[in-house]
Amino acid sequence: MKEKVTPHLQRKIRDGSAAVALQFRLQNVPGGNIAPNDPLGEESLYSPIKGIVHKYQNRVLWKTTYRCAAHCQFCTRSRQIGSAEGDLDDADIAAGLCYIRSHPEIDDVILSGGDPLFVPQTVTRILSGLRDIPSIQVVRIGTRLPIHSPKSIGSPPVKRLLKALQACGESFQTYILVHVNHPDEIDYDVTDAIRTIRAYGFPVLSQTVFLKNVNDEEEVLEGLFKKLYYLGIVPYYIYRCDRVAGLERFVCDIGREREIMTALHKRMSGIALPSYIVDVEGTGKIPVPLDFWDVPDLGHCRDYNGIVIRL
Ligand SMILES: *Cc1c(COP(=O)(O)O)cnc(C)c1O
Ligand code: SF4
Repeated sequence: MKEKVTPHLQRKIRDGSAAVALQFRLQNVPGGNIAPNDPLGEESLYSPIKGIVHKYQNRVLWKTTYRCAAHCQFCTRSRQIGSAEGDLDDADIAAGLCYIRSHPEIDDVILSGGDPLFVPQTVTRILSGLRDIPSIQVVRIGTRLPIHSPKSIGSPPVKRLLKALQACGESFQTYILVHVNHPDEIDYDVTDAIRTIRAYGFPVLSQTVFLKNVNDEEEVLEGLFKKLYYLGIVPYYIYRCDRVAGLERFVCDIGREREIMTALHKRMSGIALPSYIVDVEGTGKIPVPLDFWDVPDLGHCRDYNGIVIRL
């Protein structure tokens, strides 16, 4: 994955944010900066057609593109990010819609990527199909654009997309899921972008990844979750960094992550605290137990089928 940094993030790096630099600057790591594998089996196990990942019975993840406004160096999908290969043409969109229509157990579609707000035309086309599928009750948009380039939220194509989403209100509920990892990422411009999104009436939730030397400190995460909570964003998930080849430098010690989340649980409102999750190769997301009960071994967990997964 190449380095790609927006002027907004560049300014933050210039202003001295080590947390932003570590996330976006290409680092010279021996054997690093390659990410050939598919750690969650998205393509190999769960993709019935291009772009669609159907892993949980009632929910699909739809990768609308592999492109983003900036490239996060720890991205689970590093092997794909930046490539035009993930772009969807009309036939791909029609095939995705057809798949969803023929699986009425699906009520929830997560538009992901890449960044869906980076390809507003594709997403608009997907939406106009989804609104005619009666089983669909929820559409979520997972984005990092408000962090990468907050001013883009006010650009005409994104505004048109948000309006189109609003117009789908009778067909399904929309949630916006922003990916944010450090309090440095939330400044005046980002706050403004979030307020713009909220003004359309969409609930906003956040997702965070535990990243070594970026946010693996109690005070940093407390600051982040409080900032989000104050802004009307509900912290949803904090993920353990996926084991992507070449990106091991970002993976924190699981014991330390658990210590931090346990400490935060003791002093923060449940509303401001995300679920702490490990996404395993097996069947899906698994909550990591906090340190209130005796847990014999953090080296493995069991997936949804009871199969032991080594962490
Ligand atoms: C995370 C994820 C979802 C959504 O899971 P929720 O717990 O409902 O947020 C759906 N599909 C895939 C493939 C995922 O990775
Ligand atoms: S915004 Fe998301 S998909 Fe894009 S590079 Fe960052 S983590 Fe990956």
